[in-house]
Amino acid sequence: MHYRTLKILTSLFMAIVIVVVLVAARSTLWPSEETDVTTTPEQTTQGLATEPPDPTESAAPTTVADPVPLPVAIGQATTEPGQSLRRWPEDLSIPLLREPDLSLYAGRKKTEKPLEGITVILDPGHGGQDGGAQYPVKVLYPDVAEKDIVLSLSLKVRDQLEQLGADVVMLRETDVWQSVYYRIALVNRWIYQDFMEQLPYHGYESSSVDHLLPPLETMLEINSDYASSGGRGPMNGVGTHEDVKVLLDMQAQYTDVLFLSIHCNALDDDRVGGLQVYYLTNDHVHQTENNWVSGADPMANPPSYTRYDDEARLRLAELVRDQIIDRLPELKFPGENDLLPGNYVVLREIALTGLLIETGFITNEQDRAILTSVDGQTKISEGIAEAVFAYYCRP
Ligand SMILES: [Zn+2]
Repeated sequence: MHYRTLKILTSLFMAIVIVVVLVAARSTLWPSEETDVTTTPEQTTQGLATEPPDPTESAAPTTVADPVPLPVAIGQATTEPGQSLRRWPEDLSIPLLREPDLSLYAGRKKTEKPLEGITVILDPGHGGQDGGAQYPVKVLYPDVAEKDIVLSLSLKVRDQLEQLGADVVMLRETDVWQSVYYRIALVNRWIYQDFMEQLPYHGYESSSVDHLLPPLETMLEINSDYASSGGRGPMNGVGTHEDVKVLLDMQAQYTDVLFLSIHCNALDDDRVGGLQVYYLTNDHVHQTENNWVSGADPMANPPSYTRYDDEARLRLAELVRDQIIDRLPELKFPGENDLLPGNYVVLREIALTGLLIETGFITNEQDRAILTSVDGQTKISEGIAEAVFAYYCRP
């Protein structure tokens, strides 16, 4: 090659290298709009200040040209003889787009932010005009209200989990009232929106599932648990509406997200005390709801959902119980009822691995002393955080 040509080509090559370096530096220093992680005011007011997890972040994703609508195949429900409620098939109604590799967490040390990449949604029960359980019972201004204990406790759990590197989403951080279905709609919408963000990277667009969002927005606007209010949206009644099955099938793909609803109990009999952890299994939902509509035509109600991760929920429930009781043996509920399946709406209309934790009875003197003390709350919150750590890092 002619020397002069070579020199021109070399200069040209150097110029290209400089331009590429400058462009790369610019996008690092001034992230484009797509990488903006600031939270919208709307999200903040609704308690979802933490960004949803984005597994595509480190994978340098590329979108696919000419996306097709996300395929939705709801499948045929099965009927069993003598049953008044059908069951949805166990197949996912939508493609599996998220499969977090949880083996990455196994064996991690506490000192290295082991839960980085894990999200925990904390739901402190009640709030505002709904005080929940109280002591003394049946008085207008009780000394102790469940809503205050569970908020204080949840904030401690948040701090513990954040120290371990987890992202924590609080469904409430102050003494506000939100209907249970409002909270459920928040979680459903959050997962839905995150799932929608994954679609372009898999060659899909959202037209087949766009209709799932407005009913959730309506639930948030109505903010009421009364069936007649419309606040339950498509989650009203027995069984799982086919649109809800699709939403739950999205949530079932978020094994790196946990949902913990935190409560305390009350009973007229003040001798009863102790921790009770509720989980929910597919069979329990089916059996309880089948009894509720006993004798009805199976076609009169939508089928029950069948893809809750029974094994994961039970394992997490055992860990939470064991870790709290390790620290506070006096909170041990007598007998076997410290671990119970419960058809709670927050465990039924959210298909994440989740629990409802009844941390103790505020009507019982010993439990109340634990629940209202900083030391007691700290130990309970440490137990819950340790259980989450063990769930992911000591499988
Ligand atoms: Zn409660």
